Amino acid sequence: MIGVAILGATGSIGRNTLDVLERHPDTYRVVSLAARGDARRLAELCLRHRPDVAAMEQPEAAGELERRLREAGSPTRVACGAAAIEDLARDPAALVVMAAISGAAGLRSTLAAAAAGKRLLLANKESVVMAGNLLLAAVRAGGATLIPIDSEHNAIFQCLPAGGRIGERPAGVRRLLLTASGGPFLDWTAGAMALATPEQACAHPRWSMGRKISVDSATLMNKGLELIEATVLFGMEPRDVSVVVHPQSIVHSLVEYVDGSTLAQLGSPDMRTPIAQSLAWPGRIAAGVEFLDLARIGSLEFRAPDRARFPCLGLAEAAARAGGTACTWLNAADEVAVQAFLDKQLNFGDIPGVIERVMNDAPGGPMMDLDAVLGADASARDRARAVLAEYSAAARRTSA
Ligand code: MG
Repeated sequence: MIGVAILGATGSIGRNTLDVLERHPDTYRVVSLAARGDARRLAELCLRHRPDVAAMEQPEAAGELERRLREAGSPTRVACGAAAIEDLARDPAALVVMAAISGAAGLRSTLAAAAAGKRLLLANKESVVMAGNLLLAAVRAGGATLIPIDSEHNAIFQCLPAGGRIGERPAGVRRLLLTASGGPFLDWTAGAMALATPEQACAHPRWSMGRKISVDSATLMNKGLELIEATVLFGMEPRDVSVVVHPQSIVHSLVEYVDGSTLAQLGSPDMRTPIAQSLAWPGRIAAGVEFLDLARIGSLEFRAPDRARFPCLGLAEAAARAGGTACTWLNAADEVAVQAFLDKQLNFGDIPGVIERVMNDAPGGPMMDLDAVLGADASARDRARAVLAEYSAAARRTSA
């Protein structure tokens, strides 16, 4: 039996992972589940999947989880705090770690799993963006196997030759092509986009995802973060990673080789495919995913991204070229701006402007160590909050 730890169990990736594991009860065992604060949902998952340990980052939530599990007579042990979640990432009982805690909050546990030499199923793209070279160093030092879960990077992983090393440019590859669905505002005017609501931004036409990544998909910052992620994971220069809009989300990304071959990975837009691929690699297991009916789909459409309506893509490309802590700053500025939008403190159309103003102050420089990354993250968040305060002061003046 292969033990699996799922960090970020209550989110969309965590629940999809449990769905795949449940189809293979003779092969995989859920060793541990971790989440930030949703005790009710984590309790339900513990009763169904019976992990040895469940951890919650927030103490009140851990207390509630403990109460719910004891009332139900569950044998699952409850742990509390970020350090406990890092312990689960290192636990020898888990050969596989699904790193699916979103945002900067998932960084430490992702690094811990890498350093412990796990099969690291990496869904936390922010850890690659904000601390890419530290993560690669931890993977190498720990002897971990990193397989990307982000559908685009998983598609590229599947289209690359076997035997490559993570973080090193594969021989014979000319360019990587990331596909973008274009999000819910693909065909909206800039004027309509400017005042879009969180509900509209989170209504993604193809994928069902958490709210932060849904807003990132609507601004195309998600694709920008994925471009940075691709440069890190596959050792590519930013200019050798292109973005193409593909509204059907059937082709999940492509690899262009120097001989003129372009290999693509196709499938239904369902995260259970990359999850199953990464669990079983180099084998294959069933994932419960609907198979493609190409005749019914009929045609696949591709177009260039509209950089005027989606300036976040260009901001991410600039950060990728600058490298080092510029990417940490970009990630932090985006998290703050998106949260302000979700809290109705910022208009959708102002998200790129906030990030751009924060990035104007981003110092260059390499990522030396985790403290430097966390310091850059904190500085960028401070700067983003200051810029947001200027925006709301300006908004008050306009409405007065
Ligand atoms: Mg993706």
